[in-house]
Amino acid sequence: MKVNRLVGSFSAVFPSIYLFAIACLFPGAGLALEPSVSLLSSPVLIFTLVLFILLAGGGLVALALLHLDSSSFRKLHAILTHMPLAVVIVRKKDGALLYANKTSCELLGVRRLDGCYLYPDDISPEMMFDFLRPFSYYRGFRNVTEELQFSRDRLMKLKVSGQPVRYKWQAAWLLFIVKPQEPQASETMLEQEQRVFQQVLNSLSELVYFQDKSGQILGTNKAFDRFWQGRFDEGVMDEVDSFSGHNSSHSWTTAPDGSSRLLETNKTMLIDDKGEAIGTLSISHDVTDWHEMQENLKQEIERREITEQALAQRNNLFDTIMNACQDPIGLYNEHGVYVGCNESFARSLGLRREEMLGRSASELLDEEVWQNYWESDQQVMRDGLTVKMDDYVILDDGTPIWYEVLKSPYKDPTDGTVGVLIMARDVTERKMAEQQLADAIMELQELSFIDSLTKVANRRSFDEQLRKLWHSHIREQNPLTLILCDIDNFKSFNDNYGHQQGDFALREVAKVFRNVVKRETDAVARYGGEEFAFLLPNTDIKGGKVIAERVHRHLAEKGILHDYSDVAEKLTVSLGVATVTPRPHQDYGELVELADIALYQAKSAGRNCTKLMSDRVAT
Ligand code: GH3
Ligand code: MG
Ligand code: MG
Repeated sequence: MKVNRLVGSFSAVFPSIYLFAIACLFPGAGLALEPSVSLLSSPVLIFTLVLFILLAGGGLVALALLHLDSSSFRKLHAILTHMPLAVVIVRKKDGALLYANKTSCELLGVRRLDGCYLYPDDISPEMMFDFLRPFSYYRGFRNVTEELQFSRDRLMKLKVSGQPVRYKWQAAWLLFIVKPQEPQASETMLEQEQRVFQQVLNSLSELVYFQDKSGQILGTNKAFDRFWQGRFDEGVMDEVDSFSGHNSSHSWTTAPDGSSRLLETNKTMLIDDKGEAIGTLSISHDVTDWHEMQENLKQEIERREITEQALAQRNNLFDTIMNACQDPIGLYNEHGVYVGCNESFARSLGLRREEMLGRSASELLDEEVWQNYWESDQQVMRDGLTVKMDDYVILDDGTPIWYEVLKSPYKDPTDGTVGVLIMARDVTERKMAEQQLADAIMELQELSFIDSLTKVANRRSFDEQLRKLWHSHIREQNPLTLILCDIDNFKSFNDNYGHQQGDFALREVAKVFRNVVKRETDAVARYGGEEFAFLLPNTDIKGGKVIAERVHRHLAEKGILHDYSDVAEKLTVSLGVATVTPRPHQDYGELVELADIALYQAKSAGRNCTKLMSDRVAT
C-alpha cells in the first residue's frame, strides 16, 4: 500500500520534471514548433521518447526493487526474530529503536509495547546515537567491542557489528550484538582460583591429597609432602566406603622426626555437578595429643570413679554410724550452715534432719538460742580448742533433757573449710543424781548447822560463827556482844505440861527470838537444852542491853503460860549480856565466860532479868 502511494505521487510529479528537462536542454524549441508535428519529427521528439522510455523503465525497475526490498525485509524479519544473535535496528538520526529480535530483548532487556520497541530504563536513544555517531554510515563496522555503562551498577561488555540499512524508508543501523566470552579472562580467573586454593591447602597443617577414581594421586598439599616424604604409598588410604561416600580410619605411624604419631584420616568421595564420582579427597589430622589427652582423661575419670565410690562408701558408713548413734551429732561450717547431722541431733533442736542440711542455724533456731551457741562455736573455730558445756533442753514432747555437749573444731581436708563438730551426750540421769546429791548435801548441811527442833542455828553453827566473828573483830577492833539466854523454871514446865509441850514452847520461844534480831548479821542459836544465844557483831554493851530488853518484852507479849514458874505466870528468861572488843591472841572463850557470869548473876538476881558484862565495865 505504501509503495503504490509512492508510485502515484511519482507519476504526478513526472510531467513537470519532463518539461523542465526539455526547457533546459533545448531552449526555445518548444515555443517555435507546432506541438503535435514538430515534436514527433524532431530530435527533440526522439530524445523525449528515449527519455520517457528510460524514465519509465527506471521507475518500473525502482518499483520492482522496492517490492523486492520490502518482501525480502519481511523474510529477513522472520529470520532475525528467531536468530540466536541479538539484532536491533536503530534509527540513524536519533538512535531510536525501530526493531529488536527476541535475543536482543533477553540480552539488553528491550521491551515491546503496542508494536513499538522500548529500550530498558537505563538505555536512552541518545546513548545509542552517541555510540553510533563515530562510525561511517556508508562502510558500517565490524566486531567493535564496547563496554556500555547502562547504569551505575550495570556495565556490559558487548561486541557489535553495524550495517547501514534503510528501514521503513529511514536511514537506520542494522546492529548485530554478541556478548563476548572473554576466554582469556576466564582462564586467568580459573588460574587465580586454583592458586588461591593451593595456597589455602598448603597453609593447612592437615595432610591433604586428592585421588582420581583409579586411585592415582592428583594433588597433595605441602604438609602431606613434608610428612610422607619418600614414602607416599604409606600415606595413601585405599578404600572408600562407596555406600556412604565417606571413610575414616586411625593409624599409628612414624613422623619424619622419628616420633610416633596417630593419624586420623577422613576420605570423602568427590562428586561432580552431574552427581558422578570423580575421585576422593583425603584429610589426615595428627590426633596424637588428642588421643593422649583422651587417654589421660579416661584414666582420670576411672580414678575419680574409684574415689567417688570410696567416698560414697565412706559417706554411707559415716551416715550409718551417725544414725546408729543415739547421741546427737551435728556438723556445721564456718558460716553456721549445717553440713551433716543425725536424727537425734535434729530432734534435740525440735527439727527434722532433712530440713536442717544445707541451711543456716541462724535461720532455723531462735535468735537467742542461736546467739548463745554461736559465741562458743566461734571460740572453738578461733582458738581451735574443744569446748565442753552442759545444755538443758526441753523436747517437743515436753521431756527435759540435760546434754553434755562437746564442741570440737574440724577442717575439711578436701576444700580446707573449717567448722564445728558437735557431739552431745544425754546426761539427764547423771544430772538428776547430781541434783539429788546436792539436795541431800544441802539437807545435811542444814541438819548440821540448824537445830532441828527450833530451826535456828545449832551449837556447832554458833561456835563456827563466833570463831569467825571473833577474828574479824580482832582485825577491825569493834565490840562483839554475846547474849546468853536461859528459860526460867523450864524443868517444872516440862514436868507439868509434858515434854512435847516443852518442845512446842521451845519452838515458840525460838520464833520470838528470830523476830527480835533485825540486822542481817545478827544471829540467834540454840546453845543447848532450853538455852539460846544471840551473837551481835559490831554491837557494844548498850546495843546488847537494847536487844535484851526487846527479848523480855517480845516474850512477854507472846505470853506462853507457865503456871508453875516461881517468877511469873508466863514463860520468862534470864539474860547474860557480855561485850568484848577482842584483842589479838585473846580467846573467844573469854566472851562466853563473861556472858555466862552475867547469866548466872541474872539467875541469882531472881530471874526474868538481864545482867551485863563488858571487858571494860561490869554492870
Ligand atoms: P532455872 O533455869 O530457872 O534455874 O530452872 P530450870 O528448871 O530451867 O533448871 P534447868 O536449867 O536445870 O532445867 C533445864 C530443863 O530444861 C531440863 C529439861 O527438862 C528441860 N529441857 C532441856 N532441854 C529440853 C528439850 O529439848 N525439850 C524439853 N521439853 N525440855 C528440855
Ligand atoms: Mg538451863
Ligand atoms: Mg533454865
